[in-house]
Amino acid sequence: MKLEWQRSTVRDIPLYYNPKVSGLRMDTSTNPLGANPAAKEALMECMEMDLNQYPSPYSDALRGALGELYSLPPEDFVVGNGSDEALDIIFKSFLEPGETVVLPYPGYSLHSYFVKVNAGKAMFVDLRDDFQLDVERLNRAKGKVLLLCNPNNPTSNTFRHQDIEAVINGVPDRIVVVDEAYGEFAGKSFIPELQDYDNVIVTRTFSKAYALAGMRIGYAVSNPDLAGVMQRVKIPYSLNRVSEMVALKALKDQEFVRHSVKVVNEGRKQLHDGLSRLGFEVFLSEANFILFKGKIDHRLLVERLAKKGVMIRDFGDKRRLENCVRTTIGTEGMNRLLLDKMAEVLRECR
Ligand SMILES: *Cc1c(COP(=O)(O)O)cnc(C)c1O
Repeated sequence: MKLEWQRSTVRDIPLYYNPKVSGLRMDTSTNPLGANPAAKEALMECMEMDLNQYPSPYSDALRGALGELYSLPPEDFVVGNGSDEALDIIFKSFLEPGETVVLPYPGYSLHSYFVKVNAGKAMFVDLRDDFQLDVERLNRAKGKVLLLCNPNNPTSNTFRHQDIEAVINGVPDRIVVVDEAYGEFAGKSFIPELQDYDNVIVTRTFSKAYALAGMRIGYAVSNPDLAGVMQRVKIPYSLNRVSEMVALKALKDQEFVRHSVKVVNEGRKQLHDGLSRLGFEVFLSEANFILFKGKIDHRLLVERLAKKGVMIRDFGDKRRLENCVRTTIGTEGMNRLLLDKMAEVLRECR
């Protein structure tokens, strides 16, 4: 293949995280309770579904249900194949080739990927030492879109509300996207304030608190103007009929989400205490995962744990995250297993 055949903007994209899977997965920040029980129920009903027919092009039923949940009109929502698709739609809709997207760093690695595949330029602005937003530098950075993640992945903290407001208000004519993939766990959201602004988009997902990562369901919510533009850009039918049905059922079971958040809140304390006791530096978490910094080499820690049947995610090679690893917060039993195996690894490596 000739290099010139490849579009110049996509020539150096690495493959995404694709580990050999075995044992207990605490590397993906999914829901520790396992698949949403609504899924099985919905899938039974799907046996009768006429899969010869296309889905609704814009997932009208799901947009209606989301509207009810948030007391907003369905026109404010754009539903897609995971919130990853929602992010892609945002850049497809608003970014000219070559335009800049401002991204706080460290953040979610796929954010810059979506900028790149849409021919944009990512400009990283470092978080402060406490992993909070550097409002002044973010407001000096020139870009068409600013995308931040709250709670932030992989640092696991939330940003101060007034700082997010300051980057929304700080620059005229800039679109601000708040990726709230873990919003339910923090109990914080910008959705109630969306109507106060004409330039804010929130993305959310069914992959984390709703425990449906395998179904690929996510959405963007904004004002009807921005949402209307995105709706026209989105690939029609991108959410399949089965996933939409599962999402509708899952939305009705808010008790599952509340319970998930409760389990995570309890597990967070257990892991924070346990990891600290083992001598790790543990960062403040408001998500369903925790970032912590190794006593021993991050590669060694992650590899040895995997051999003992527990997978966590390695970030230790990244700038600002030197020797850091991330684990999902599990149930009491999962956390205990992780801590036990971690203690074994530390003993073996002494
Ligand atoms: C997991 C995650 C998503 C992806 O969500 P999907 O709906 O599964 O595509 C988006 N943003 C962040 C920060 C995430 O961690």
